[in-house]
Amino acid sequence: MALTYGTALRDAIVALTASSPTPRLDAEVLLRHVTGSTPTGLIAGADRPLGADEMRRLGGLVSRRERGEPIAYLTGEREFWSLRLKVTPATLIPRPETELLVEKSLARIPPDARWNIADLGTGSGAIALAIAHERPRCRVYACDHSVAALDVARANATQLGITNIEFSHGDWLAPLAHRTFEMVVSNPPYVRADDPHLNAGDVRFEPRTALIGGADGLDAIRLIAKQAFALLMPGGFLLLEHGHDQAATVAEILTAAGFCEILRHRDLAGHDRITECRAAPTGC
Ligand code: GLN
Repeated sequence: MALTYGTALRDAIVALTASSPTPRLDAEVLLRHVTGSTPTGLIAGADRPLGADEMRRLGGLVSRRERGEPIAYLTGEREFWSLRLKVTPATLIPRPETELLVEKSLARIPPDARWNIADLGTGSGAIALAIAHERPRCRVYACDHSVAALDVARANATQLGITNIEFSHGDWLAPLAHRTFEMVVSNPPYVRADDPHLNAGDVRFEPRTALIGGADGLDAIRLIAKQAFALLMPGGFLLLEHGHDQAATVAEILTAAGFCEILRHRDLAGHDRITECRAAPTGC
């Protein structure tokens, strides 16, 4: 017998209760995804029957969610900075704290600036696209070492009609070594290799190379600090996301690389999550 939207939703919530911290929300998102319904359409259409194909697809997605797959990989999208982004298991799922990195970067870029800005390890392109969108006269250079991630980022740029962005393949600033920049931004891998939280929740399904920054989590940040200092214009900015307990060590790394005016910013959970600094014209 065909299920209605209402009964399908109820069954999905029951199925997800043991495995998901947010069974109702997940069930609603998945049901909307297969039916193309709006949030109010789900409530108003509670008595509508689900088509056979919709039922089959919903069943498949609910079982995958029961096995722990992140909702964003199941629907293939996530909103970031009000931009709807495609995401796949080749990319991290953009997080709210990374919006703070965008906010703090934009605070430094005058609205009519024509800066060259590099985003290192762009993944889905979230940071690069948000900045390019907000500062249309700037040129954003987005790099990633993963070809599959670059394909996703390129598709996002096309889908969003954002054209002041260029993509290149390679490690950190290596593919951009012939240019100079007014700003470099990055949400690099910064999780310690033995961090137990790699074995829990959504993170289990995300690309390890985008998460793990070596034994102390800081391998990528050390490289980026060195490379960025060499390619930033005098007075140029570097902004990095890092782990909640890494701000002090990140500041040491940045100072050793020659940066000054080091500032930390707290995320919504109250953790020092973003550090910004400047390549001063005459050292500090
Ligand atoms: N914030 C992510 C986490 O803790 C890590 C993202 C990253 O390494 N850039 O799961």
